[in-house]
Amino acid sequence: MAIREILKDGDETLRKKCREVTEFNPRLWQLLDDMAETMYAADGAGLAGPQVGILRQVVVIDAGEGLIELMNPTILSTSGMQEGAEGCLSFPGEYGIVRRPMKVRVKAQNRNGEWFEAEGEGLLARAFCHEIDHLSGRLFKDLAVRMLQPRELEDEE
Ligand code: ZN
Repeated sequence: MAIREILKDGDETLRKKCREVTEFNPRLWQLLDDMAETMYAADGAGLAGPQVGILRQVVVIDAGEGLIELMNPTILSTSGMQEGAEGCLSFPGEYGIVRRPMKVRVKAQNRNGEWFEAEGEGLLARAFCHEIDHLSGRLFKDLAVRMLQPRELEDEE
């Protein structure tokens, strides 16, 4: 495993649309292992392919309920609403208030290409939405109701 460089604000790769994953092979598994290690090292709750320069529909998430790997994910249904502070490993130190569904049901393939469905609530629902947005070049700042000021961040800690 290896830690990969996380692309930051302004890198145009973050704005590109990702292609589907079609090959579920050791090269993909290496990428997934690296992405998980990179996410944990950066203390993040999720990481998407474009953030490490890979324009494929690949996402890793750990919102405190264990590691989830998603290939070619789509959102099947959503319900409810939550509004809260959200950040991104590509925008270190920046947080915005973003509205997301409270519950999200997704469909995706695992690292062996098998389809599965998963449901997330709260932080996990937020992570599903945030990371799946990355795959079409959408960033949390696009959706933020407003960005938090540094002083507000200190208050939250
Ligand atoms: Zn992000």
